[in-house]
Amino acid sequence: MIQRLDLRGMPAGTSVDYRAVVPRAPFDVDAAVEHVRPICDDVRKRGLDAVREATKRYDGVELEDVRVPVDALREALASLDDEVRSALEVSIDRLRRTCAAELESDVTTQIAPGATVERRIVPVERVGLYVPGGRAPLVSSVVMNVVPAQVAGVASIALSSPPGPDGRPHPTVLAACALLGVDEVYAVGGAQAIAMFAHGAGECRAVDLVTGPGNIYVVAAKRLLTAVVGIDAEAGPTEIAVLADAGADAAYVAVDLISQAEHDPHAASVLVTDSEALADRVDAELAHRLPQARHAERVETALSSEQSATVLVDDIDQGLDVVNAYGAEHLELQTADASALVARVRNAGAVFVGAYAPVSLGDYSAGSNHVLPTAGSARYSSGLSVRAFCKNMQVVSYDEAALREVGPGVVALAEAENLPSHGAAVSARIGGA
Ligand code: NAD
Repeated sequence: MIQRLDLRGMPAGTSVDYRAVVPRAPFDVDAAVEHVRPICDDVRKRGLDAVREATKRYDGVELEDVRVPVDALREALASLDDEVRSALEVSIDRLRRTCAAELESDVTTQIAPGATVERRIVPVERVGLYVPGGRAPLVSSVVMNVVPAQVAGVASIALSSPPGPDGRPHPTVLAACALLGVDEVYAVGGAQAIAMFAHGAGECRAVDLVTGPGNIYVVAAKRLLTAVVGIDAEAGPTEIAVLADAGADAAYVAVDLISQAEHDPHAASVLVTDSEALADRVDAELAHRLPQARHAERVETALSSEQSATVLVDDIDQGLDVVNAYGAEHLELQTADASALVARVRNAGAVFVGAYAPVSLGDYSAGSNHVLPTAGSARYSSGLSVRAFCKNMQVVSYDEAALREVGPGVVALAEAENLPSHGAAVSARIGGA
């Protein structure tokens, strides 16, 4: 069911571009950008009417109120199942602890007597958080978006998630918002939600930054609107890569490959192994477990599509070349020396070490963030964190003596760049030509 790619015999190291041979999703975000462009343009021009029309077209719902009333949030929390509430509280607490540890302090550098440069950490003022809801109500994404924003000190938080048939996001999503004290919640999904955040529509004022995961339309709208609003990263259809050796437990590998395929027919599940025997055992486990999966059809589509594969390599060194080229959103290391291998992983959104740290743990309750870069963008971007919600502002303070000390150099550099008015702005203060 899952294709096999045999890379054995290919040289290891930097002489080979493994990026050209790793399995990749066939979908094309640029094509999706063209698909969502009219939706986003329409929201820019016509605001709420365009949001409502797109919701009718793509979610099949006629929205009366785009914003969810605060009472509905409170009611959802009051009806929340006790076990789910306790589990949410655990994930909130664990994520808050890692977020608090991530907070950076202001740093002041004394450059010279009377001259300082301070790096001030300033939270973004207003953010729009996207919580997916098309196939599954991702209540965990409420936690993953809101907690770092709150710890960063963001003053204004709006959240949007697709409406169900009743015109509201899933009650558990609403309950999680209430639990976290978020009261500006919209029942809008897809590209129209990202455009609503970017341009503002109706009651929703434009935001400064949009974060959160989503399907290809959400990713495309984020890419399209980067000139208008800040985005965190391209956190699209999910991916798991498992680097495993002969000693790995085939059942653990198989359940983890299935778990991420459950998200989306576009999801990618990739096993990289130097053991053909393990690959055979994993295939047998997949064949055995798949029919029992609740979302068997979606899982099977994801596993049998070209973005998923078992990749055979000569040894774990070559396996590392493959996973570093792939740059998975989630990378599991299920090898004998997993802890030692972490230092050699250069590209991954998050790394899960050993047999007892499955990706599902990170999806909910590890204390890490599950909003992670996909489609190889882990090569240059990171998962959601407090840092994504903060800016780094420089504060420059010089007194007269300090300006005098360095001023002639500024004038000389301005002259060298043929920008004499720059130099004049300094000379006017300290004298000179
Ligand atoms: P979603 O909320 O992202 O998308 C649903 C919306 O898509 C709908 O509200 C609808 O308006 C819009 N839509 C549907 N069909 C459309 C079409 N033909 N044209 C335009 N718009 C359309 O929910 P989803 O679809 O379930 O996807 C969630 C995604 O989020 C999955 O791919 C999952 O893997 C991903 N995810 C990623 C991460 C990460 O960090 N990378 C984390 C969690 C989830």
